[in-house]
Amino acid sequence: MIIGAGGVGRVVAFKCAQDSTVFSEILLASRTVSKCDRIADDIRLQLGYNSISTAKVDADNIPELVNLINHFKPKMIINVALPYQDLTIMEACLQTGVHYLDTANYEPKDEAKFEYSWQWAYRERFKEANLTAILGCGFDPGVTGVFTAYAAKHYFDEMIYLDIIDANAGSHGKAFATNFNPEINIREVTQKGKYWENGDWVLTEPHEIKMDIDYPNIGPKSSYLIYHEELESLVQNFSSLKRARFWMTFSEEYLTHLRVIQNIGMANIEPVMFQGREIIPLEFLKAVLPDPGELGENYTGQTSIGVRIRGKKDGKWVNYYIWNNCQHADAYKETGTQGVSYTTGVPAMIGAKMFLTDQWSKPGVYNVEEFNPDPFLEALGQSGLPWHEQVNGDLQFDYPE
Ligand code: NDP
Repeated sequence: MIIGAGGVGRVVAFKCAQDSTVFSEILLASRTVSKCDRIADDIRLQLGYNSISTAKVDADNIPELVNLINHFKPKMIINVALPYQDLTIMEACLQTGVHYLDTANYEPKDEAKFEYSWQWAYRERFKEANLTAILGCGFDPGVTGVFTAYAAKHYFDEMIYLDIIDANAGSHGKAFATNFNPEINIREVTQKGKYWENGDWVLTEPHEIKMDIDYPNIGPKSSYLIYHEELESLVQNFSSLKRARFWMTFSEEYLTHLRVIQNIGMANIEPVMFQGREIIPLEFLKAVLPDPGELGENYTGQTSIGVRIRGKKDGKWVNYYIWNNCQHADAYKETGTQGVSYTTGVPAMIGAKMFLTDQWSKPGVYNVEEFNPDPFLEALGQSGLPWHEQVNGDLQFDYPE
C-alpha cells in the first residue's frame, strides 16, 4: 500500500507495478483521490498492470488509516506522503500489524525541525510487535546511507571523513520551482547549516560555507554546506567518523528567489490572518508555485548524488567515491515525472522489495545503513539507477591528517 500521490508516489507506483512478481497487488491512497486515479490509469495503460486500486485517506487520521488498512490488508506501507504523517502512519501500522517504510523523517508541522528521535522512540514497540520499519529510504536519505554501508563493508576498516554531495544540474525552464514538495524543501534549505566534527555538531548560518565541487559528467558547481537528516544516523552507526558533511548545489537565481521569499515573510510557518481566516504563508506559497510532479516534461540535464569517503584499510589511507547520475529526461520518459522524484521513488520501491523478499527484514525500527547493502545496490543498478565507484582518486576536499 502506497500513501501519497505526488511526484514520488507516481514513481513508486510505476516501479512497483513493473515488478509484479514481488508487488502482486497495489493500493495507492492519498488525500486527493483524483491524483491516485490519474497515476493508476497511466499504469494500466502504459504497463498493462491491472492489480492497482486507489482510495482516499487522510493520513493525519489514525482511525481512518486503520479502517483502510484493515480493508486492503497490505503487507507493507510505503509512506511517500509528507514527513508530518510519519508518526500517524507508524501508529496505524502497529495497530494493524503492517510493516512500514518512508523516505523522510518526521517533522512537526508547527516547527521546522526534523530529527529521528520521534521515530526511533518506536523501536521497542515495532520489535515487540515483530514488525519492521525502514526509515529514510529515498536517495538522500536512502541510497546515500546504503552507499556508506557498502563502503564500510568492502573498502574500509575505519571511515574517518565523509562528504555527501548532491548536484541537480538540471533545467526545468521555470523562474523558481522546487524539485519536491515546496513546503518541505523550503523548510529544509532555509535552516541553519550543521555538520559533525570531532564528536559534536558545528552550526553555521544558512549557506555560509560554499565551495565548488566537480561532479562527474557535469563539472564544477557551487555547492553549499547544509544539514541533511542522514548525517544524524550515519554518525551514530559509523562511530569512527570524525567529520561528516552534506553539500548541495543551488544556483544564484534559486538563492536570490529564496532570499526574497524569506525577506517578505512568505517562508513563515506561523499563521497570519488573511481576509478573516488564518493562513500559513508557506502553505499559500506552495499553492502558487509549480507542482514538482509536473516539472518533468521539458526538464533537461541530470542529477549527480554520491558519497566521498576517506579512511583507513589495513593501516593505509583510502579515498573512495560512489555515485549515481540520473537524467531528468530518462526519468520522465519512463514514469512521467522528473529526476528528483525518480531518484527518490526507485529506492523506496527497492527497500520494500528487499523487505518483501526477506533480505531486509528484522523486527524494529532501522535506518537503511543497518541492512546488508549488497542486494539493494544490485537491484538499484537493475532498476534504472546505475552507480559507479572510484578508489583512490582525488576527492577534492581538504583532509587534516
Ligand atoms: P508532493 O507534495 O508532490 O506529494 C505529497 C503527496 O502526499 C500528495 O499526494 C499529498 O496529497 C499527499 N498528502 C499530503 N498530506 C496528506 C495527508 N494528510 N493524507 C494523505 N495524503 C497526504 O511531495 P513529493 O512527492 O515531492 O514528496 C513526497 C515525500 O518524499 C516527501 O515526504 C518528501 O520529503 C520525500 N522526499 C524524499 C527525498 C529523499 O531523497 N529521501 C527526496 C525528495 C522527496 P494532496 O495531493 O492532497 O496534497
